[in-house]
Amino acid sequence: MKPTLVLVGRPNVGKSTLFNRLTRSREALVADVPGLTRDRHYGHGRIGPKPFLVVDTGGLDPEAQEGILAEMARQTRLAVDEADVVVFLVDARQGVTPQDHAIAEELRRRGRKTLVAVNKAEGLPLEEARTEFFELGLGEPIPISAAHGDRVAELLERALSDFPAQVEVEPPAEHPRIAVVGRPNVGKSTLVNCLLGEERLIVFDQPGTTRDSIEVAFQRDGRTYTLIDTAGLRRRSRIDEPIEKFSVVKTLQSIEAAHVVILVLDARTGIAEQDAHIAGFVLEAGRALVVAVNKWDGLQAEQREQVKREIERKLDFLNFARFHYISAKEGRGVGALMRSVDEAYASATAKLPTPKLTRLLHALAAKQPPPRSGIVRPKLRYAHQGGSNPPLIVIHGNALERLPASYRRYLENSFRREFRLQGTPLRVVLREGT
Ligand code: GDP
Ligand code: GDP
Repeated sequence: MKPTLVLVGRPNVGKSTLFNRLTRSREALVADVPGLTRDRHYGHGRIGPKPFLVVDTGGLDPEAQEGILAEMARQTRLAVDEADVVVFLVDARQGVTPQDHAIAEELRRRGRKTLVAVNKAEGLPLEEARTEFFELGLGEPIPISAAHGDRVAELLERALSDFPAQVEVEPPAEHPRIAVVGRPNVGKSTLVNCLLGEERLIVFDQPGTTRDSIEVAFQRDGRTYTLIDTAGLRRRSRIDEPIEKFSVVKTLQSIEAAHVVILVLDARTGIAEQDAHIAGFVLEAGRALVVAVNKWDGLQAEQREQVKREIERKLDFLNFARFHYISAKEGRGVGALMRSVDEAYASATAKLPTPKLTRLLHALAAKQPPPRSGIVRPKLRYAHQGGSNPPLIVIHGNALERLPASYRRYLENSFRREFRLQGTPLRVVLREGT
């Protein structure tokens, strides 16, 4: 799994500025998906060969903005506990504040690896910045400028020093790895138990085992699946602790580790903003997706129509995925759901041979030639597969940057249709020359 960096600090120290800098390179991939709610609180980053996830806790608990931040809000504490590295931002221009001390104390108590980043340090004497914030008791502070990028690379190198560079080879795909995700109470545990049947189990978290994910294999209709680290598998860390039902970090990590994500929605509460956020992350991670609209039992026809309309309106950017209307409690619709999981898995890992791709590309160009742009007409030469899960199609040609977005969509939709890539995001990139 990718290491997770969690950014904490009081308001206005520059968390979202740093977040944007760390995740910027990924932005372009999903920038042009119409209707997608761009989530500002979690994303992907990479330094050299090391990919990582970033969570900005600034937006996790809106109520934390008011009131006392000394008592870090619950979702923030949870994110800290599940972080691989915590980056604690402070403001060089304001100096150490009582709130910084309170946060530092809480971070020391939680015992995760923590780095103090002294932000807005551009143009200030570095030694002073280091010395002043040393008193927070969290090791040697690193002066940075999130706005200008100064020493952000150094910060990342220190943050990720314990993690090996990741060679991006797909793990051998013997059978589909599934993550079941969704808001609290939508019915994830119920669905997981329904899938596991007799094999249902309760697992207790071991404190300090953040990196270990829980995986359970199960069989259904003669096929094997692996369910990864999800609600219903993980319950609580101690018997006397309330069950924390939703964890952003866990959700992100299990999406990353899956081939296919089952996003569970609750037909009774309608589509919430958080549903769209989680869906957006699945899309950004490039994972295959099947949507389970749960609690379909006992709904009036009118309510059902309303839910379907709402889905069309708010989740139209998921048009590559199949939607199933199920009752996890009664076990209805679950068989069909799993057939879509198989289909999505097959699509995500499909092999697209170069000759077939190229023939199709030429046929599409003959049927609808790329529009002229000024005096040049873009030329499509050939296509090959550049990756899978999600499938990546690389198109080679000339003047391709002049292809209008509508033409790219035409190509993308046609590839999707011809290769029956149902249930997976598809990436198409254009490459100049041969
Ligand atoms: P957050 O509330 O912690 O997410 O803070 P923001 O990222 O919204 O930043 C708060 C303010 O600090 C904004 O006006 C930023 O432009 C400014 N800021 C962020 N990083 C830097 C920096 O490196 N140097 C300076 N001078 N200002 C910064
Ligand atoms: P989780 O937080 O997403 O894991 O949700 P749970 O599986 O714990 O379910 C939350 C509540 O919804 C429980 O009271 C379940 O009994 C109920 N529930 C789950 N699935 C269904 C369903 O298909 N129909 C109905 N009517 N209730 C359900």
